[in-house]
Amino acid sequence: MDDVIIIGGGPAGLFASFYSGLRGMNVRIIDVQDKLGGKMHVYPEKIIWDIGGLAPKPCYEVIEDTVKQGLHFNPEVNLNERVVDIRKIAEQHFEVETDQGHVFESKAVIIAIGGGIINPKQLDIKDAERYKLTNLHYVVQSLKKFKDKDVLISGCGNSALDWANDLSGYAKSVTLIYRKADIKGYEAMRNLLEQLEVEKLPNTHIHQLIGDESQTNIDQVVLENIETGEQTVRHFDDVVISHGFDRENTLLNQSSTKVDMFNEYSIKGFGNTATSIEGLYACGDIIYHEAKAHLIASAFSDAANAANLAKLYIEPKAKPEGYVSSHNDIFKESNKVVMKKYL
Ligand SMILES: Cc1cc2nc3c(=O)[nH]c(=O)nc-3n(C[C@H](O)[C@H](O)[C@H](O)COP(=O)(O)OP(=O)(O)OC[C@H]3O[C@@H](n4cnc5c(N)ncnc54)[C@H](O)[C@@H]3O)c2cc1C
Repeated sequence: MDDVIIIGGGPAGLFASFYSGLRGMNVRIIDVQDKLGGKMHVYPEKIIWDIGGLAPKPCYEVIEDTVKQGLHFNPEVNLNERVVDIRKIAEQHFEVETDQGHVFESKAVIIAIGGGIINPKQLDIKDAERYKLTNLHYVVQSLKKFKDKDVLISGCGNSALDWANDLSGYAKSVTLIYRKADIKGYEAMRNLLEQLEVEKLPNTHIHQLIGDESQTNIDQVVLENIETGEQTVRHFDDVVISHGFDRENTLLNQSSTKVDMFNEYSIKGFGNTATSIEGLYACGDIIYHEAKAHLIASAFSDAANAANLAKLYIEPKAKPEGYVSSHNDIFKESNKVVMKKYL
């Protein structure tokens, strides 16, 4: 039996894994994705500024470091497995069932599922699926791919505007289309966009994608003005769709053990990361408590709190908080390896 099962391998789950290891507990992380890092994979190229103590850096570097830290104490990791049920059998005995038919047992459970399983809203157009492996994108994984390209971006939320900003001046041309008459994103972002070379086409949507000879790449796009019905055919090298995300959060509704919810999407935190069920804790975007900020930094703080509570639940006589890492014996050997770099 594991000491702690952590459901979700985003920043909250990964730091909960590290901190549980620091507190001497053995851990299993389960995530439905094929990789650790959670939602940060939606914006790998964005520069992250707001994690305390970290100089601004691209998110893919934050992912790399967060994963490395989360795996430091060698947790068991089950990827590509969706948790479908949590059952509290008795005190210090939980069962966590996945869609792969596994039932894992643990003494405590930490839920770190963010907003649930998120998937970009797909373009509902004939043949769109076919181009997903080539030049139809739902996430900008790497800016380099777009250098000197004619890029079409569909959408007017913050992510769409972000990408338009990032690609302007880097791609050969950027065209932004959106169904409404006005752009929705933050005011500052809209103002910034005004100053950049981005062609903006309001009241416009994608009517059709036309493939090249091989039918594996989009060659042209039929754009349609929703108000007038007028259609224009344009060539683009790449098409980026940014229509928001579908969220799937059935776990908490369907789970045998029910936790009190704050609203449809958030578990109610009691104090901080304790839930209404003893032995079951929650951290990161999925929990709401009064000190909550929906930031990676806040996910880390929640995670340490959840790991401390799990420790106390399993060992009521343990110290309420772990020793800080700078004088924690658990790092004695690892410190020698790290120090080599500085000697
Ligand atoms: C475009 C964008 C930009 C952002 N920029 C910043 C920024 O600059 N700075 C900042 O601090 N924050 C930023 N955020 C917010 C930040 O990404 C989140 O606050 C953070 O990722 C929350 O971490 P988490 O671990 O709680 O959840 P997530 O990162 O969402 O991770 C949850 C994990 O749980 C898994 N999961 C869900 N359900 C199940 C299930 N049933 N079974 C198994 N696994 C499951 C998911 O696959 C996922 O890997 C941004 C968010 C977005 C969308």
